Amino acid sequence: MSEPVLEIRDLHVDYGFGDDPTHVLRGVDLTLHRGEVLGLAGESGCGKSTLAYAATRLLPPPGLITGGEVWLTDREGRRSDVLGLTDAQLRAARWRDVAIVFQGAMSSLNPVFRIGRQLTDGIRAHRPGLSAGDLEARAAELLEMVGISADRLRAYPHQLSGGMRQRVMIAMALALEPQVLLMDEPTTALDVVMQRQILEQIMELRDRLGFSVVLITHDVSLLVEVADRIAIMYAGEIVEEATASEVYRRPRHPYSAGLLGSFPPLHGPRRELSGIPGAPPDLQRLGPGCPFAPRCPHAMDVCRDVRPVLGPPRTGEDRRVACHLHDADLVAAGVGEGSGAISGVGLPPELAR
Ligand code: SF4
Repeated sequence: MSEPVLEIRDLHVDYGFGDDPTHVLRGVDLTLHRGEVLGLAGESGCGKSTLAYAATRLLPPPGLITGGEVWLTDREGRRSDVLGLTDAQLRAARWRDVAIVFQGAMSSLNPVFRIGRQLTDGIRAHRPGLSAGDLEARAAELLEMVGISADRLRAYPHQLSGGMRQRVMIAMALALEPQVLLMDEPTTALDVVMQRQILEQIMELRDRLGFSVVLITHDVSLLVEVADRIAIMYAGEIVEEATASEVYRRPRHPYSAGLLGSFPPLHGPRRELSGIPGAPPDLQRLGPGCPFAPRCPHAMDVCRDVRPVLGPPRTGEDRRVACHLHDADLVAAGVGEGSGAISGVGLPPELAR
């Protein structure tokens, strides 16, 4: 595997101050490698967007990073902890080392400025020495890179379609050739044809320019097609992380299996969509055990009392799962074999190795 470019370690985020904040990220660990597309999936409210905002220190109040580290490796191989950067260092790192395409980005363009002006503003701030001609040439190059004719530089945002505005935002994010591109539901507001076109274009640009992508979406079936690895989030934690094909073919966490069962299959015969019963938990009222237990068809006694942790991958595996069904000690104690060591349901066949 290539070198890490973004390493998130034990990241904690609260919303609200005082004695009773809501813990929305609870010890997230995630690594993005050079050139990789890492998909981040989960239901609304699981903390996906908060993770992207926190990792770039763009979290608005009342969000508060209460612990953890975010290490970013720049083009020259220098590592820096984003959470420890000064404001000036942070401004320099944004767009140059890490860029973000926000949810609803196509509404983020300023309606009163032409596209060209908006594209060149960010470049000018980072490279003040560039002439007006160089800036315009770079803006034209960026537009064409995302499949828009350079003569649209003089257009206002309302003169472009939704898909074109979204491409402009992607061009803007790539303007300084960042190492890491965080994309938060970049195609949610678009129809499926445009969604596919834009994702294919991002992948083609990734192959050409060599940046790494964190692609955030609730649509895990989309990630199966474009991501190298997938991390599944639930209630502010990563509950499973593996290669995209492993998650698709053999999801091990019951929540991952439920998410996959909520979307039509990509291949094979049609099947009825199963969905996931219940609703995501109230993060202010989480018990000591597994947050998914009230919705999990395989919950055991131990699940309600002991929180499963995302341990290191088992020997010979490239997968981490936070579920007692896959806890080596509990498996050794008899879970999945009906030994009665734990009054559970046994390792269900769809989640077995
Ligand atoms: Fe279900 Fe228990 Fe695994 Fe949680 S730990 S997902 S409740 S089996």
